[in-house]
Amino acid sequence: MKLEKFRTEFSGDFHNFINNEFVPPVSNEYLDTEDPYTGKKWANIPKSNASDVNKAVESAKNARESWAATNPVKRAKLLFRLADLIDKNYDELASIEVRDNGKLYAEMVGQTQYIAEYYRYYAGLADKIEGRVISTDKLNMFNYTLFEPLGIIGMITPWNSPLMLLTWKLAPALAAGNVAVIKPSEFTSSSTVVFMNLIKDAGFPPGVVNVVCGLGIEAGTAIVNHPDIAKIAFTGSDQSGQIIYEAAAKGIKHVCLELGGKSPNIVFEDADLDAAVAGVISGIFAASGQTCIAGSRLLVQSSIYKKFMTKLLDVASKAKVGNPMLPDTNVGPVATKPQFKKVLDYIDIGKSEGAKCLLGGDVFKGDGPQGGLMVQPTIFTECNNNMRIAREEIFGPVLSTIIFDTEDQAFSIANDTAFGLGAGIWTNDIGKAHNGASRINAGTVWVNTYRVVSYTSPFGGYKRSGIGKEGGIEAIMEYMQTKSVWICTKPNTDNPFVMK
Ligand code: NAD
Repeated sequence: MKLEKFRTEFSGDFHNFINNEFVPPVSNEYLDTEDPYTGKKWANIPKSNASDVNKAVESAKNARESWAATNPVKRAKLLFRLADLIDKNYDELASIEVRDNGKLYAEMVGQTQYIAEYYRYYAGLADKIEGRVISTDKLNMFNYTLFEPLGIIGMITPWNSPLMLLTWKLAPALAAGNVAVIKPSEFTSSSTVVFMNLIKDAGFPPGVVNVVCGLGIEAGTAIVNHPDIAKIAFTGSDQSGQIIYEAAAKGIKHVCLELGGKSPNIVFEDADLDAAVAGVISGIFAASGQTCIAGSRLLVQSSIYKKFMTKLLDVASKAKVGNPMLPDTNVGPVATKPQFKKVLDYIDIGKSEGAKCLLGGDVFKGDGPQGGLMVQPTIFTECNNNMRIAREEIFGPVLSTIIFDTEDQAFSIANDTAFGLGAGIWTNDIGKAHNGASRINAGTVWVNTYRVVSYTSPFGGYKRSGIGKEGGIEAIMEYMQTKSVWICTKPNTDNPFVMK
């Protein structure tokens, strides 16, 4: 199948996807979805409520047992077919995402192409889920384990990379034999809804994948509270993650929480400084800083501070801000009006805290359309790690620079944060690299590179950055539970009133 031209021609209503059908919300109410570059509304998405969620869960419940019992080779075939359909449609999917979240087409097209590989990777694992035979101390017993799917997974995703972050959940969950009820962000639901055309075309049975659009506090809460949902796989802010974790605890649900960060990018005096400049820029200005792994704290060794900042400023000041669809644009708009206000508020906070604004620090006023949500790439220096701009996640193109003298100081500042998602270390000293990799409390450490992820490798946070892993073999294990089976090979009538 080839998708329609959603980016340029479509404008109208999107629908929920339940039992392989596109259906309007029960309330018949809709929310606007806007293009952050033009500031204009381009479509409506359902404002679903608990009734819609109940319908989606009912459909997932009807599909749950037969999907879990489906031969894993058949599950894999459907995932491979889905990947082939993504290959044919990644361009359209990327265009829809740019229209919704304003991220660069160059980045989104890379992501939508790459997600096909996640479906292939987990398709490959689907028939390789093996328990083990345990050599136990109970000599007349045969004991083995089975890995079984959890059941219905509620998947709640944010606006910054809608299809990629959905894929990190959906591909391993389906491969493991689970079914899904998905709620995309109210700001960027369209690509997930359009993607359901590919799910249907690939041949997934009705009810295996369902989408309910709407607000976090309404549709999202209904998913988290639904008694038939076994696990919540959530990506979003740590504040929402905390609320969801508390609510999930009431239902003793499993959770996987991929939350925010305040990741340090540490540049030592022995680093390749040009490579480090590129890494720092990619850490904070790519995607207008709207990535969970943004390297939003730059830690620079005092001996190279002036030289490094001159180089950084030289490259950062030439970044072209503008239309995210154009190939020569480096920095697009921020995705939503609330986020635009939040980023500008933090710039004011940085100034009032006494940080020195070396670059940017305001709304970007180019010759683009009126009403676009454009912020200048902003670099603060003379920060200390107690400032709010060094401690709180801004999620915008705002870098806070801190100077350090020694290796010990660098790692101690790096760890002095509530978060622990990622960290970058720039050095040519292998000992320092390994030392940092083990001392930094974060789920991912990059050495002489930044912002690398793959379906082959686990990704997830420490501390307030989350619980659980996405990617790699670890992710498929997140969607299974372990059953221990005991078979007595020599039944007997030993005292039945004591434990065996
Ligand atoms: P958000 O927490 O506001 O919303 C995320 C999703 O949760 C949305 O679909 C929203 O509708 C829903 N939601 C919000 N409150 C809810 C509630 N009480 N119950 C149920 N659902 C609820 O986050 P956002 O602003 O969309 O995304 C930005 C955040 O996501 C940043 O903090 C960023 O760091 C984080 N993020 C993390 C990762 C990661 O893998 N660790 C990746 C991308 C983004």
